[in-house]
Amino acid sequence: MSIVVQKFGGTSVADAERIRRAAQKAVETKQSGRQVVMVVSARGKKTDELVGLAAEITDRPRPREMDMLLSTGEQESVALMAMAVHELGEEAISLTGAQIGVRTDGSHTQARIISISTQRMKDALDAGQIVIAAGFQGVDEDFNITTLGRGGSDTTAAALAAALDAELCEIYTDVEGVFTTDPRLVSSATKIERVSYDEMLELASLGAGVMHSRSIEFAKKYRVSLQVKPSYADGPGTLISPEPADPAPMVTGLAFVRTEARVSLIGIPDQPGVMNRIFSLLSDKRIPVDMVVQNVGVAGTANVSFTVAEDDLEKTLTVAETATDNLGGSVQHNAKLSKVSVVGHGMQTHTGVAAQMFGVLAENAINIHIVTTSEIKISVLIDQERCDMAVKAVHDGFQLAQRIDQAPNVGVPSVSSMNGTRRDTSELEADIVSRLSGMEEIVVSDIYSDIDQSRVTITQLDDNPGVAAEVFSAVAEGGILVDMIIQNVALDGKANISFTVPAGDVAKTIEVLKAPLQRHDDAHVSCDENIGKLSVVGIGLRSHTDVGARMFHALGDSGINVQMVNTSEIKVSVVVAANQTAAALTALRTSFNLPGNEDI
Ligand code: ASP
Ligand code: MG
Repeated sequence: MSIVVQKFGGTSVADAERIRRAAQKAVETKQSGRQVVMVVSARGKKTDELVGLAAEITDRPRPREMDMLLSTGEQESVALMAMAVHELGEEAISLTGAQIGVRTDGSHTQARIISISTQRMKDALDAGQIVIAAGFQGVDEDFNITTLGRGGSDTTAAALAAALDAELCEIYTDVEGVFTTDPRLVSSATKIERVSYDEMLELASLGAGVMHSRSIEFAKKYRVSLQVKPSYADGPGTLISPEPADPAPMVTGLAFVRTEARVSLIGIPDQPGVMNRIFSLLSDKRIPVDMVVQNVGVAGTANVSFTVAEDDLEKTLTVAETATDNLGGSVQHNAKLSKVSVVGHGMQTHTGVAAQMFGVLAENAINIHIVTTSEIKISVLIDQERCDMAVKAVHDGFQLAQRIDQAPNVGVPSVSSMNGTRRDTSELEADIVSRLSGMEEIVVSDIYSDIDQSRVTITQLDDNPGVAAEVFSAVAEGGILVDMIIQNVALDGKANISFTVPAGDVAKTIEVLKAPLQRHDDAHVSCDENIGKLSVVGIGLRSHTDVGARMFHALGDSGINVQMVNTSEIKVSVVVAANQTAAALTALRTSFNLPGNEDI
């Protein structure tokens, strides 16, 4: 019999009435012939209240006791939920994290799941019970209660769905689903019918309001389909699944991070090992880096920019100064910046998404400081005071409010059928421990190379709003598909842009750039057909500062110079010389323990 996991967040179980309503949903699902595991959060503001109570007693509660305290919120709601199900005439059993065997590491208040034992839940399900599991909690190897970080019940739900090989994980919440952008800022934002894991992860800042991003990482890793649904109505919500909608929209959603700070290292040597030095220092200080941008070097020197949370700016500047003391070069920085990103699978096959985004920004006289991309995302760094305006304008520009929703939500492929053939249960049991061991560890899921791209670079462009739009409109009008785009910070009023195009399209690109560049006297175009791009794809990359450090270490040790870097939420890409691409791939695959060095 197929299993459905149904997670109810705090507001969906806030009072007796809502608890009854949630219980009713579970009972209906069970009566439709499926086994049901409910994952329940603490009621309403319960967790906040408990945090407040602790604060009345001490400024420095010990994390172990915090977990002991916070876990009671979920214990209360699972018991009440079981009673509500009993009242509806069905069997149900409430279980704590320890009782379901959610084993975590010992990092109190932000523990990571190591394994889940499914036997007790399976026995209860087979005995006809609805299992009601406490979200957000587990135990370490000494049976100390741990919690998974605020909002962690989503992660419990996705993890249980993975461990039980559930057909679907439904996340009942107090919103209609995932929206094209934050509806508090843009009232015309519309609900998205279907989004892929990658889109959802790239939309991190947007998704975060709806779901704990670690739960999406889990879902992707174990291919659990998630359906975010309103608990107060019958709406279909948003399906988060391996495949995007069909046809994939050019832009699915628009995310923003309001406060970022930029640090640039200007004029550092363009040599192997330099990025390694910088990133080792950042990783030693555990500073999470968001965007990383390096454009191709000029005359033996390179410039690297990265963004960090504003709170980390001071620490980061110290690191940057240590680095330049050693390497030479100087440090520049800028606070009060925002990152605005458009995300959509369709941009892989449509020219002109970048041109359109840059065009909208130009019309609103918004200057772009930095650009970085992945195959399905374009991010720009702009002044913070322009953030709201930019989001509204880009949302309008891509007509996200008018979008007719894609693909009707016809049935959800089961987890196993998506993987190919359905495995039988005994095989699954045997496999479960290894499958879940360290299930939240950082996973670099893939490293690949691409030698079919060439680089085009324009330097000495005037640093005015509209320049990027002019360049990419011309390229799009030429029907040329752009892959990576990198724009590093402008120096002395002059901006630089590099991008990659299919190798065969270089001559045409240079041709179409002639007209727009006539208006820029000093602009200079160059190209390099001998490049290779390497991408390290993974989940949890951003929360693990050492991924960049490890990448640059591996490349530095192999004497490979990093010519360009760009990043997204789920990917770090570097460009190296074509004849070093194979060696770089081997070095990276070895460093991240990925089997096989063949080009894939
Ligand atoms: N009750 C916990 C919190 O408020 C976990 C959750 O709601 O997901 O953070
Ligand atoms: Mg919650």
